[in-house]
Amino acid sequence: MLPRYQAVIFIHGCFWHGHWCPKYRLPKSNGFYWTEKIHRNTIRDHATLEKLLDAGWRVAVVWECAVKGPKRENRLATTVAQLVPWLTGTTRELELPPPVEPPVTTPVGLPNPQWPRRS
Ligand SMILES: [Zn+2]
Repeated sequence: MLPRYQAVIFIHGCFWHGHWCPKYRLPKSNGFYWTEKIHRNTIRDHATLEKLLDAGWRVAVVWECAVKGPKRENRLATTVAQLVPWLTGTTRELELPPPVEPPVTTPVGLPNPQWPRRS
């Protein structure tokens, strides 16, 4: 939390928080368990973000894949270059990298929560 900027920055692991990027790979065993668990995590994340936004905070989510992986230094520099102007600006929400389109349904047919809010 950065009260001076009325901002909260989350660093989310792509697997645990259900980012639909190449880093999101379900374990080969217990697929249903993991899918359901990750789905619950995304529902909880979504509720937390909504509460913060409703309370007047600005919220950024930086995904693991924005700062890790091949060309890590470039990714980190790009992410920081986007994060700094956001911090000093007025935009309420930021997601880095920009949202990945999820499949229409999860493997067990659970709906995907939508974040950031697009209304
Ligand atoms: Zn990711």
